[in-house]
Amino acid sequence: EPLPTEALPIMPAGTRPEEPHAAVGRLRAAARLRAAHPRTVRLHQLRGLKRMLTEQQERFVNALGEDLGKAPTEALMTEVISVRSEVDHAILHLSEWMEPRPAKLPLTLQPASAEVRPRPKGLVLIIGAWNYPVQLTLAPLVGALAAGNAVVISPSEKAPATARALQELLPQYLDSALISVVAGGRDCNTALLAEPWDHILYTGGERVGRIVYEAAAKTLSPVTLELGGKSPAVVTPARNTGAMARRLAWAKFTNAGQTCVAPDYILAVGEEAHAQVVAELPKAIREFYGAEPRESKDYGRLISAEHAQRLADMVEKDVAAGAEVLVGGEVDPAARYMAPTVVTGVQPDGALMQEELFGPVLPVLKVGAFQDALDFIADRPHPLAAYLFTDRPRLHRAFDEQVQAGGLGYDVALLHAGITTLPFGGIGSSGMGAYHGQAGFETFSHLRPSITKSDQVDTLKTAYPPYGWMKRKM
Ligand code: NAD
Repeated sequence: EPLPTEALPIMPAGTRPEEPHAAVGRLRAAARLRAAHPRTVRLHQLRGLKRMLTEQQERFVNALGEDLGKAPTEALMTEVISVRSEVDHAILHLSEWMEPRPAKLPLTLQPASAEVRPRPKGLVLIIGAWNYPVQLTLAPLVGALAAGNAVVISPSEKAPATARALQELLPQYLDSALISVVAGGRDCNTALLAEPWDHILYTGGERVGRIVYEAAAKTLSPVTLELGGKSPAVVTPARNTGAMARRLAWAKFTNAGQTCVAPDYILAVGEEAHAQVVAELPKAIREFYGAEPRESKDYGRLISAEHAQRLADMVEKDVAAGAEVLVGGEVDPAARYMAPTVVTGVQPDGALMQEELFGPVLPVLKVGAFQDALDFIADRPHPLAAYLFTDRPRLHRAFDEQVQAGGLGYDVALLHAGITTLPFGGIGSSGMGAYHGQAGFETFSHLRPSITKSDQVDTLKTAYPPYGWMKRKM
């Protein structure tokens, strides 16, 4: 039977607040009708999403090239294929995730049964960031659809080619009564955030994260905030120094450093580790992008000229304070280009250490002992990720116990963010809540408890007043 709802129209930036309000109302009707709940509907949506990612792969790769200069292979690996594996995983596990989970009851309550059943939350809002504009909208969408919700997606206006592709394509492959893509941007989000939502998942910076959280408080909408922060990489002397440097360079310079879990800075423990980093990082960068990264087809661009200028200014300030550019440093804001850059001799209070860099600049700091590195991290806001590169596995335990971060990587960075079986999210100022795989399904589900206790024979009598007998027993 056709659903008596219409899709939310694509709203240009500057949309008047009452328009999203009316449109959201229409989508809410589908949520009320529980149109998205049945397993077959959910599977149908997920399969549609998978078909879109396969048939429209090229369109997305081109859009990502336009928005961020992403190399096709990188765009496929970190966005299209990564979301496709989320979809495959959800399709494979949907039945199992949807199963009610029986709960044990105390003997005194028998005969009775209880269960926890994941139920769709209803109508959810997904606000994405520009740095992985396909992944950050569609990976949450997988969880939201698997959980049986109706969804509004607000892509970042700063990646307009991708936003257009999402707006055009999603309604072609999914039931437009259950999903809508709006134009995104500040005005549109402000209007949307005035609505009550059954869940909001926001990805982006901390400043806007606060705005979202505050707006959600007014309507008591539950939120997941996927924020960022300065993710450290602690390096102690390595045996395979080449691999250590390649893994750091890969994690840092993929997407020109505009990755929420990229190592933001390196803490080299002692002279030997510092010397290894200094010797090997430039080699790894050259190996990846050649002597002239600007010419490399595999090296991306920054989102804007201002972003490039901001990074260049910070490097300049630290150099004036005595830091040194070990490699890179070239900037061409007009071309949104900045070379992969490593800066040594950066001080803990340096310009590069004030906020998340979110670009291709890797400051290297020196600390005397491993515990100093742990204290350095503990003294600062909880990062989204923390990494330890070491040949001494016995250090893992202290790192594990003392570092509070959204996720950890030992001898590897970035990877955990792309694994469907690992929940992904921050802690403290790097965010709250998690998604990916089953965690995404659960984020968008209400884990609803229920109990059944037949009243054919009243076995609950002991709970009723008058309580005289109980007093005697207690
Ligand atoms: P952005 O500028 O794209 O903003 C994010 C979203 O917020 C966009 O959709 C934008 O339209 C919206 N927005 C902007 N101003 C708003 C306002 N006043 N009201 C409502 N909505 C508004 O992205 P950004 O903030 O530059 O993103 C970079 C940050 O995101 C970094 O800190 C990065 O670490 C973090 N990030 C986190 C993750 C994660 O998964 N945890 C992933 C990517 C990026």
